[in-house]
Amino acid sequence: MTIDEIGKTYGLLTVLEHVGKAPNGRAAFLCVCACGKTRVTTGRRLRQGDAFACTHKGHRNGEINNK
Ligand SMILES: [Zn+2]
Repeated sequence: MTIDEIGKTYGLLTVLEHVGKAPNGRAAFLCVCACGKTRVTTGRRLRQGDAFACTHKGHRNGEINNK
């Protein structure tokens, strides 16, 4: 079980809850971005820095930019 990600932050994302498994079998987590949008991604992607924000393009540099 990989549930120790809850409450951690990765970039702009804060991990809210474990939501089961992704299609690839990895643990999937519901995260909320600093802009308020949610995103489901895997713990692996979070730890690797692959998923550091929601999918909004304005976050590419790790900034909260909704324009
Ligand atoms: Zn966002």
